Amino acid sequence: MHLSQQASRVLGSRTTRARNRAEALRSRGVDVVNFAAGELDLLPPEALRHALYEAARGATNRYTETAGLPELRAALADRISSLSEVNRTPGEVMVTTGAKHGLYLACLALLDPGDEVLIPQPGWGTFTAQVRLAGATPVPVETSGSEFVPLPEQLERARTGRTRMVVVNTPNNPTGVVCPPETLARIAAWAVRHRLWILFDESYGELVLPGAVHAHPVALVPEAREVTVTVGSFSKSFAVTGWRVGHVHGPAPVIEAMKNLQSHTTSSASSVAQYAVLPAARGELDTFVADVRSTLRARHALVGAALREIPQVTAVTPQGAFYYFLDFRTVVGGKLGGVPVAGSEALADVLLEQAHIALTPGKAFGADTCLRLSYAIGTDRIAEGLTALKRVISRAE
Ligand code: PLP
Repeated sequence: MHLSQQASRVLGSRTTRARNRAEALRSRGVDVVNFAAGELDLLPPEALRHALYEAARGATNRYTETAGLPELRAALADRISSLSEVNRTPGEVMVTTGAKHGLYLACLALLDPGDEVLIPQPGWGTFTAQVRLAGATPVPVETSGSEFVPLPEQLERARTGRTRMVVVNTPNNPTGVVCPPETLARIAAWAVRHRLWILFDESYGELVLPGAVHAHPVALVPEAREVTVTVGSFSKSFAVTGWRVGHVHGPAPVIEAMKNLQSHTTSSASSVAQYAVLPAARGELDTFVADVRSTLRARHALVGAALREIPQVTAVTPQGAFYYFLDFRTVVGGKLGGVPVAGSEALADVLLEQAHIALTPGKAFGADTCLRLSYAIGTDRIAEGLTALKRVISRAE
């Protein structure tokens, strides 16, 4: 069967693959601890569910404006100004079908075939796939030498005359690392100097642990305003991944181009979901997010304490999102319970079968000795799962 070259440029999301394998085992009656989820285990705040219900009951069944409901864009512009200290008008803001579609539209609006895009690694595989789908070339930039913080020096070494964009994702998926403001400022100044786009993904920007600071490149370096396109989401902080509402802000001509592209792809984000997130955009549910942060803080501490008891695993301590990126380099290449472990996918499979824990293979993020652990699950499950990990990993040969 003939499929397009476009379709053959990408594989399906590998993070989804890990989830599906865990589901398959669970459907056979096995109690699997799922460390593979990329979303909170909570219900959305009651006020959002109520707003969704009210929206569904009302006359909200029609297409919305392509760029999003005017009242949502206005609320977002205010929220961006207060949270990120970047003044934006509603015309510089657009609502998208999740951050994921916002990122894709940004790639389509800003990249041409032959352009190169610097993508810090480990990094979320969707960035690489979307750059390819836009016809451009992803250029991986390794950050393991700087504890997963991308440095302008590393980016500069990878820059060529064809470099058009750098992706900055902080807090980061999969590492949970937050880019320190000083480094972010240096990256922003470097991008301005070389006229590169910064595609800034702050989908986890509200999920930062005490002690770390989530900053915005434009607040740090005002000249970066003309080269920065920012993508954010309600998904992670308000536990509404399935509602599919994200947002983008940037220079008005970029937003206009993205709006045109959106008009031919999704028309707009879902009308009811846009109405439903209005209270969140207006800042009425920030106590929910504060509660999420303290819940995650307790879980983060639990994972950290458990990992200290497992010498075969190392990790850079994360400061945001809900991920730990575990390095099993002493295990990969050997055997576990008699089974050869050639790379992260084999290791994830063995841990699923022998410890009944599901983790996401690091191969999906460009790091094949690592597994991503999501601690967006209850503390009892975290404790059980990590006890099982300790038991099974001690059999490494
Ligand atoms: N950006 C990053 C870094 C992510 O990890 C994810 C989801 O895992 C997204 C964006 C997508 O978020 P949304 O649900 O808003 O599409």
